[in-house]
Amino acid sequence: MSIGELFSFREWNDTAWSEDAECRGLSIIFFPPAAERPQARERREAQARQVCQSCAVMTTCREFARSNREYGFWGGESEEERHAAGFRLIAPIGVRSRNIS
Ligand code: SF4
Repeated sequence: MSIGELFSFREWNDTAWSEDAECRGLSIIFFPPAAERPQARERREAQARQVCQSCAVMTTCREFARSNREYGFWGGESEEERHAAGFRLIAPIGVRSRNIS
């Protein structure tokens, strides 16, 4: 299955921009492990944010994640930051654990 087929159900399924992603091979810092503690999440997301800052497709990536209500860290933005910007997730883990509305 290609990445295009994987994303075919999404609102925005053009993923050509991801060929230029700075985070290729680094998904371990962009998606949380099970039962991640808040302090570990902050450290992991700080690392992800640093990678995003040097990424040529950050703006496109952020728009993609917002449009598709993605989980994880995308486009220099955490789930909580997307949520706060009005792009709400169904069950955002960080938002629920920190009681952010
Ligand atoms: S902005 Fe961040 S998450 Fe998006 S493609 Fe670039 S490095 Fe990956």
